[in-house]
Amino acid sequence: MLPLGDWRGRMSLRAGCARAVRAARSVVDVLFPPRCVSCGSEPDGRPDWAAGGLLCPKCAEQLGPKHRNCCRRCGGNVPEETPRPDQCSWCRNSQLQFDSVVALGNYHGPLQEVVAATKTPAGGLMAEALTRLLLERHEGEIRQLRPNFVVPVPLYWGRRLGRGINSAETMARTLARRLGAPMAPRMVVRRRNTAPQKGLPPQARFRNVRNAFAVPANYHLEDARPLLVDDTLTTGATCSEIAWALKQSGASVVHVAVLARAQGANR
Ligand SMILES: [Zn+2]
Ligand SMILES: [Zn+2]
Repeated sequence: MLPLGDWRGRMSLRAGCARAVRAARSVVDVLFPPRCVSCGSEPDGRPDWAAGGLLCPKCAEQLGPKHRNCCRRCGGNVPEETPRPDQCSWCRNSQLQFDSVVALGNYHGPLQEVVAATKTPAGGLMAEALTRLLLERHEGEIRQLRPNFVVPVPLYWGRRLGRGINSAETMARTLARRLGAPMAPRMVVRRRNTAPQKGLPPQARFRNVRNAFAVPANYHLEDARPLLVDDTLTTGATCSEIAWALKQSGASVVHVAVLARAQGANR
């Protein structure tokens, strides 16, 4: 046990450090005022900025609308007048192996642009902002799924080396921290590189990723409820293949969280 004086000394040292950090931050804020990471506008003292002050209200609503009527199973848009369905006409007869999708918004316009930015070496802050916004919009819904692991979709090592960043991993870290569930970046491994899914027709995308992922034998996932995380979901082929591997290892359900849900011609 520490002598009382020593303990107080350490506390005041810690308080002193915290004060110094706060002071340094306010100096930095005056010299370089925080800006919206999407449009670059300054907060102007407005308290309604989203994503922990990283996104202005206008960008937040464009990137992750407060209201988006979508299917619980695949995250695809459904007509406004339909009560939110558990399945939609697109996914009802599909072989998708995951159980639900939570998405921030649709993959087009501004969200498509900023999701592309998260894949660049400087894209970490953007990925962080979008994940915080995803939590602001859907934290309650994600918590109801009771995930006990957060698993990023792995990049093939060669591609990761090229990009220097895996945005899915940045997302998974932020989600895991907030949800209090461990992030498990090695729970799923890529067995081989796959051709980029972009540009392939839907059935070819499923063929392209077949048996491309595995769960190492030291993971026993009986009754686990992993939350699988990626930046975009289009046909769902990659997430479905990973969900299959997780379920082969014992996972009872696999839920998916993504930033953008692509649909329409991209399906
Ligand atoms: Zn903005
Ligand atoms: Zn659906």
